[in-house]
Amino acid sequence: MSKKLNLTCQPVTLDLKTTFRIAHGASDQRHNVIAHLEEGLGEAAVVPYYGDTQAGIVAYLEQAAATLGDDPFLIEDILNSLPAGSPAARAAVDIALHDLWGKRLGQPLYRLLGLTPQALPLTSFTIAIDEPALMAERAATCGYPLIKIKLGSPDDEAIVAAIRQATSARLRVDANAGWSREEAARLIPRLAEYDLEFIEQPLAVGDIDGLRWLKERLRLQKIELPLFADESVRCAADVAAHAGAIDGVVIKLMKSGGIREALRAIHTARALDMQIMIGCMVESSLGVTAAAHLAPLCDYADLDGPLLIRNDPFKGLGYEGSCMILPSGPGLGVETL
Ligand code: MG
Repeated sequence: MSKKLNLTCQPVTLDLKTTFRIAHGASDQRHNVIAHLEEGLGEAAVVPYYGDTQAGIVAYLEQAAATLGDDPFLIEDILNSLPAGSPAARAAVDIALHDLWGKRLGQPLYRLLGLTPQALPLTSFTIAIDEPALMAERAATCGYPLIKIKLGSPDDEAIVAAIRQATSARLRVDANAGWSREEAARLIPRLAEYDLEFIEQPLAVGDIDGLRWLKERLRLQKIELPLFADESVRCAADVAAHAGAIDGVVIKLMKSGGIREALRAIHTARALDMQIMIGCMVESSLGVTAAAHLAPLCDYADLDGPLLIRNDPFKGLGYEGSCMILPSGPGLGVETL
């Protein structure tokens, strides 16, 4: 009989370069968990607003270790047999399985998925909420030609105006569910004046009727700024529930529970003619490189996690400005530093 797959985990503390303030709250550190599944590596990002804790994820992985069986190629069976748990915790197992798959076959994950690593969209660099003048200075000096602005503060229009004046970079904004329907209907036509690519998660999580109402209001005013759902859309079924209510979706491994369900969500979005952005939480190069292997399937990328932290324990996805370079090693191609 072959040997049972061995899963262990290791808590890790990521220090942010600057305080990360978004509409959900502020943090200077994030406490993630690294999974080791034989020689495969995975990461769970602890996202405070989804109710995860580092201890909860460690406890989940200890429980999951008993259910894995002995054949790492049975990825569907293994994932279907995992105990119920948070998507981020399940993602750690899923990512480690995909890394192991590639390592055992000696191929990078993008090749196993049939994707070309040259077809990556540019990634945006995130500017968190602060005083408008400070955000504008950061936008002007960060050196990235594609910037994502976090909104959901009382100064939203002033922030966008200050940043637009300070830089000619491409701009996209993320309200992180920070607006009421009325605020969104009032603000978005004004923000549309500043040449933005799209707006992420304007309304509260789950307010699909509100999105339909908002889209109709904007259509009547001939405002063509696309709206994307992020927090509201975790898995393929959530994508389907937003059909007709949204122009695009943000897919993240920590919401979907890993690569398998992220692929289903991407294909569902394509079938519904939605645009797709691949994103990340505050994650090390491990989790973000896993997401980047799916980026050739997506229109947009927001994979700046490693750029926001100062003590990345891994080396994987490379950056040249906003261009991302996928590593060519087997599996995820991530090295432990
Ligand atoms: Mg977002």
